[in-house]
Amino acid sequence: MKYSLVASLLASSTVVLGELVPVHFTAPSPAHFRDVVRNDTYDFGCRPVAQPTEDGKFRLAAWLSEPQIVELEKFYERDAEISVRRNLVKRAATAPIGTGDRFSSGTVAPKGLGQQASGTTIASILNLNEITSALNALKSVYGVNLLTLPSKTFEGRTQTVGYVGAGTDKSAYHLYLSAGIHARERGGPDNLIYWISDLLAANKAGTGLTYGKKTYTNAQVKSVLAAGIVFFPVVNPDGVAYDQANGNLWRKNRNTKSGSSGSSVGVDLNRNFDFLWNFKKYFSSSEAPASTSPSSEIFYGTAAASEPETKNHVSVYSSFPKIRWFVDIHSAVGDLLYSWGDDDDQTTTSTMNFLNSAYDGKRGPVGDTAYKEYIPFQDLTNVKNVASKMVAAMKAVGGRSYSAQQAVGLYPTSGATDDYAFSRYWQVPGANKVYGYTLEFAPSGNFYPTSAEFNTNILDTNAGFMDWALAAISVGLE
Ligand SMILES: [Zn+2]
Repeated sequence: MKYSLVASLLASSTVVLGELVPVHFTAPSPAHFRDVVRNDTYDFGCRPVAQPTEDGKFRLAAWLSEPQIVELEKFYERDAEISVRRNLVKRAATAPIGTGDRFSSGTVAPKGLGQQASGTTIASILNLNEITSALNALKSVYGVNLLTLPSKTFEGRTQTVGYVGAGTDKSAYHLYLSAGIHARERGGPDNLIYWISDLLAANKAGTGLTYGKKTYTNAQVKSVLAAGIVFFPVVNPDGVAYDQANGNLWRKNRNTKSGSSGSSVGVDLNRNFDFLWNFKKYFSSSEAPASTSPSSEIFYGTAAASEPETKNHVSVYSSFPKIRWFVDIHSAVGDLLYSWGDDDDQTTTSTMNFLNSAYDGKRGPVGDTAYKEYIPFQDLTNVKNVASKMVAAMKAVGGRSYSAQQAVGLYPTSGATDDYAFSRYWQVPGANKVYGYTLEFAPSGNFYPTSAEFNTNILDTNAGFMDWALAAISVGLE
């Protein structure tokens, strides 16, 4: 596809809210997707991922409006190599959002799946108020500590993190997990809340945990808790409230400063962090790791960390200065991403790094030699080691497929939580080294899981969190 044609499609495309249709592109190589991925009015989920198919081709998921699909189908009609198709697999109804408050105003503790009989299910996804109620219940029942974060969201909501396992000394906390930064990725906060609940119930009862075919001993539960866990269940509550009320696959926050209606509202918080945020300066002009257009799903905001939710996420590192391991919970692909996300990794040339202005304008394209991001060899070994353990645990639960890969994959990102976490060591004076991951839980292509998928996600991710934490402990928390 010629870039000029992408530009013409870009000019005529409009995103119609609430009418995004899941589609997939198919092509003989990931490189075939490059031009289409550069169109920042198309929605490729958290980040574009080309996945190999059984017949030796590659598949790229996207969510497009009907006019966009019609345009692209017409364009690709005469191209035998690349195609765009609506996803035609008939799916069961998506899991409902809970009504009311199953935790009775923060008095009844959440009960995860790790201590319940095989086949037990959770009936509905937590509504936004229930996430708050769950935090309060974890405090009242198990003594979990809560910390109110400094900034209010654009719509005025208060944000809270929980921390548990290592007492009141915040410098004894080494694990950090967050969820709900992309509003539509339903079940992310649930995966986290129910896992923490399982750890505390098992700790109290002196028992272990079981997720499908994966089992964990009480000693392992105690070990994970002792590492000190900070958890931020819903990074983007304004977006989640909007998505839960409207069911329109809303991704961004609800900031109206750059655009007051439709798709122009909101910033993609996962492009707003202070890591190569000003991508126009730092990246090759051939790449679109984020977007300057408010109507894009990957709109980067008005400055690095311009958004209150981003500021709050970052403030956690100041409050808990010894965090070593971080995972941001997303969907829907079925993979685990490790550093870096801006370009290919390299372990040999330390001066070729994200802070060196000599490489401005060269970052982003994968497979070239103009720039590759430096990661010390031992760090790369550590992050891959822990990633492989986490992925193996998720696979072992019930046999769903997951893979671990470098975050850049085939296309770069800027301003994301995982790269920001790892970059702090080099760009924030005195900052601890934080290994950052992005988990994209399954199933591929569906932000709204069915009830069965929602429950499988809890089992798979909870085993994944256990092995992530255990492997992190094994590699080192200090
Ligand atoms: Zn996401």
